[in-house]
Amino acid sequence: MILRQLFLEYVGQTSGNPLLIEIDRAEGIYMYAPDGKRYTDLISGVTVSNIGHGNKYVTDAVCRQVNDYMHLMVYGEFVESPQVRYAQKIASVLPEPLESVYFVNSGSEAVEGALKLAKRYTGRTELIAFKNAYHGSTHGALSVMGGEEFRNAFRPLIPGVRHLNFNVIEDLKYITDKTAAVIIEPIQGEGGVRAAAPEYLKALRKQCDETGTLLIFDEIQTGFGRTGEVFATIKYGVTPDILVLAKALGGGMPLGAFISSHKIMECLKTNPVLGHITTFGGHPVCCAAGLAAFEYLIDSGIVKDVERKGRMFEDILTGHPLIKEIRRTGLLLAIEIGDEELNQRIIRDFVEEGLAPDTFLFCESAFRIAPPLIITDEQIEETCETIITSMNKFM
Ligand code: PLP
Repeated sequence: MILRQLFLEYVGQTSGNPLLIEIDRAEGIYMYAPDGKRYTDLISGVTVSNIGHGNKYVTDAVCRQVNDYMHLMVYGEFVESPQVRYAQKIASVLPEPLESVYFVNSGSEAVEGALKLAKRYTGRTELIAFKNAYHGSTHGALSVMGGEEFRNAFRPLIPGVRHLNFNVIEDLKYITDKTAAVIIEPIQGEGGVRAAAPEYLKALRKQCDETGTLLIFDEIQTGFGRTGEVFATIKYGVTPDILVLAKALGGGMPLGAFISSHKIMECLKTNPVLGHITTFGGHPVCCAAGLAAFEYLIDSGIVKDVERKGRMFEDILTGHPLIKEIRRTGLLLAIEIGDEELNQRIIRDFVEEGLAPDTFLFCESAFRIAPPLIITDEQIEETCETIITSMNKFM
């Protein structure tokens, strides 16, 4: 049986319609099929591979750590240098008081940790999230997800969750002194790249301050240079009480984190102790990979070019008759086709043409462009040419 058939037969499936691209190896912005066919990575594993595939600085760090030690003990007991050094490095880049980093395994687990922490710190139970938000697939994360059809099939979920309209200042009145936390993506990823207005995030911060509510930023997609700043919290100049990270955090390895002040994080230590337990959270090999990737991201200076490169995509593609709208932040673009079926056909043709694209969970009429941030100007031009040639077939 060929590998694709084995994949369909033995690997648990997430939909009836997987992309089914088979990859043998990956390097830079390219992924290669066993027959040598080259795919340009337009999704970065959904904003994971921000510094590209096979970065030697990262793979060397992984090999060194594998040779030193892998798993030693559950999270929070032993002093493991990759964890400590990575936590210190992230804290050095973040605004105060985001200084205490709690490592976990994934984005969903980081969201769980952040919600639990907010409930413990405030002693409140109500949570506020947003329509079209995506925060993960575990029960807590699913409860704050903003898509009714995804939530409904799994009820009962966490009680006391209210979903507000994103970017609507009048709705902020629903944040009260009963609200434990508001969780928000500063730029909604799966909603189809919808950025919060700067004045909206400032008003949200103010309402949280006035009601004693903790503000949680989910920067799982927007972190690590994707928006043109290292983190969107820096771009907006609005600091959350808890920051949630994953995806590019691990430099290609599974890693998540929720980050807050010492004062807030202290809650998980007492009454009861072990407020969040994780065996593999902050795995030393994942932290070594993440630290190396983060150092590379900062030291190489690639972040300062992200906005310009994103604009290049936008400028070249703007005006194509099939494109209704382009929504963009840095190198995260939603190309709005305005028709789900046509968008699907275009995406399938992209795959034929050697592009690896994706759509969005809550916006199936658009396709995503989120390549590794190391993409060069020539590669952007070449990629846009392929996109345009492919779309022209549908006119
Ligand atoms: N939050 C956001 C904004 C995400 O995009 C994702 C994953 O796509 C998650 C949370 C969940 O992360 P994970 O898949 O690592 O659990």
